[in-house]
Amino acid sequence: MYFPGTEELGADEMRVVSCGTGMPAARRGQAATCWLVQLGNGDNFVFDIGSGSAANLASLAIPYDSLDRLFLTHLHQDHVGDLIALWIGGWTGGRHRALHVWGPSGEKPELGTKHLVESMKSTYGWDYNSRLGVIPSAGGGLDVKEFDYRQENEIVYEENGVTIRSWPAIHAIDGCVSYSVEWNGLKFVFGGDTLPNKWYVKYAKGADLAIHECFMPPNLMMEKYGFSPQAALNVATRVHTVPAAFGDVMNRVRPRMAVAYHFFNDFDTRYPIEQGIRLVYDGPLTMATDLLAWNITKDDIRLREVIVDEAAWPTPSGKPPGEATPSDKVPFSDFITNGRLDVSETLDPLLKQFKKEHGLD
Ligand SMILES: [Zn+2]
Ligand SMILES: [Zn+2]
Repeated sequence: MYFPGTEELGADEMRVVSCGTGMPAARRGQAATCWLVQLGNGDNFVFDIGSGSAANLASLAIPYDSLDRLFLTHLHQDHVGDLIALWIGGWTGGRHRALHVWGPSGEKPELGTKHLVESMKSTYGWDYNSRLGVIPSAGGGLDVKEFDYRQENEIVYEENGVTIRSWPAIHAIDGCVSYSVEWNGLKFVFGGDTLPNKWYVKYAKGADLAIHECFMPPNLMMEKYGFSPQAALNVATRVHTVPAAFGDVMNRVRPRMAVAYHFFNDFDTRYPIEQGIRLVYDGPLTMATDLLAWNITKDDIRLREVIVDEAAWPTPSGKPPGEATPSDKVPFSDFITNGRLDVSETLDPLLKQFKKEHGLD
């Protein structure tokens, strides 16, 4: 078992944590897609931020300052639903700088990552404005770097010995990608959502950990979701990758460890899905669920459950907390200001005491 906050990552080591492995329909026990990659050089990278995943990410004893680099595979709700939670929640939880978001373009500008991020900022304008001048403004920054979804194994990030590349994925409509992270001779691959495709087989080669979606087969879609046979077939085979096809892909890639995700991992779904994979693929395999940790070195891949504090508080970054800029404050109207109740007789002595204790004027 891995207890966050109790173990230093080795200088040559990579740790991957599943923070969401489920489905678009919300489930208390299994969040939607999110993967954390931690490197021995101190870098952290977040891949997708599906609904419910921000709480898992927050339980890993990592300061929000170090969770400021997010890479999106595509813009489905189960991959971006907690973006607002990471952006605003991370800001109030102590992030001192902007959240940086990388993601693919779409076929049209309004279907791309830039549009999603910028329109989210405008949609949540009330929230953003309400915090200015109250807490330090810098953590409310949101920076988006959109790249061409058609690029094939091109670099989207290169810093501090880390190279992140993207290539196209085939899923729902144009505008989906897969990523690799290469560092220190180790390679992490995250396919996002995709049908089996030629790019993944080509560019995931040499992966130490290769994650690819593995969807429920059509019979389980009918049984668990109440789909008709045709609708089940559509979703399972024209949008997603069924277990045997996942096995086929991994049989071609032959990673050190294959990871199947994107199914509700229950006692009665896991084994039929695994059987489908094993029709074709006999290599190392993890059937992912939330809060598993893979520690990867050149010699070993160690898989453990992550035991988290259900009531974790934000982890301090060790930096001074910073100050709000009073001039950033959006003022109340006179109408609202005039509604304030005068409680100064009660409050003034308490404020005086607090200011005296903390050296404030
Ligand atoms: Zn999707
Ligand atoms: Zn998905």
